[in-house]
Amino acid sequence: MSEQELFQRYVKQVSEWGAQVGQMLPRRDDGTVHHDIAALLSYIDRHDGEWTETEIYDLQRMADAVYEKAAAVSANGTLADESRETSEEEARRQTYITAGRHVLPPLPYSYDALEPHISKEIMQLHHTKHHQSYVDGLNKAEKMMKKARETNNYELLKHWEREAAFHGSGHYLHTIFWSNMHPKGGGEPHGELLEQIKRDFGSFERFKRHFTEAAKSVEGVGWALLVWSPRSHRLEILQTEKHQLMTQWDTIPLLVLDVWEHAYYLQYKNDRAAYINSWWNIVHWRDVEERFAQARKLRWKPF
Ligand code: MN
Repeated sequence: MSEQELFQRYVKQVSEWGAQVGQMLPRRDDGTVHHDIAALLSYIDRHDGEWTETEIYDLQRMADAVYEKAAAVSANGTLADESRETSEEEARRQTYITAGRHVLPPLPYSYDALEPHISKEIMQLHHTKHHQSYVDGLNKAEKMMKKARETNNYELLKHWEREAAFHGSGHYLHTIFWSNMHPKGGGEPHGELLEQIKRDFGSFERFKRHFTEAAKSVEGVGWALLVWSPRSHRLEILQTEKHQLMTQWDTIPLLVLDVWEHAYYLQYKNDRAAYINSWWNIVHWRDVEERFAQARKLRWKPF
């Protein structure tokens, strides 16, 4: 199926879903959702010709807003339970990857498109073998951890967490990597990115030299990465040695727990479990909610 056909199918689903949610919501109880649904449907109606990726993102955002408001109405008991389940399920299908359902993203160009810089053979192997195995490994790990939650059997958790980190980082980084390249690429960035690079590295040349040196000196397997730090509000260059230790790159931490001994030893000695159990009493969920609200505004195309 071509990208355009996928887009069309998605638009059709959103349109049907929007109409359905509109019918289920009691009109007198929440006018604003109806207004949003009307805006969503008319955005689709007014559209002419092919859909671009940006327009699809816009559509996802509008559908998300409708979904959130509809869910709030339903939480207040003004929407029947049955319909809430339907809209949650629909929304999930449109914008979420559930556990174990990742797919290999198509390359945004043909296998030989990056020649002579990267050969067709490398691209084929890299994409169809290496990246595919990350996707498969991540799906497997996620399914096994889901099973652990369902059965309360966490014996192999450490193993599956390692697998999820290794394959998850592999999948997410390669997904970024493919679209970071283009046959018509090269040159220098423009606009705000260029300005930020100049601010944080002095000049584009200095950034390029630093990034090159970082990539050259990665020990063994790894990556060089240009990252945005929302905390210090600037760009930084990082290296990974083993990408799985122990993160999934391309994710945003919401809730973290320091289990270095310095965080609990004076009080709990070697009883880390007791520390963790107590810690749950002081988790500031409002803060986590706020981080979540900010983080979920970022929307990458799901794979
Ligand atoms: Mn690779």
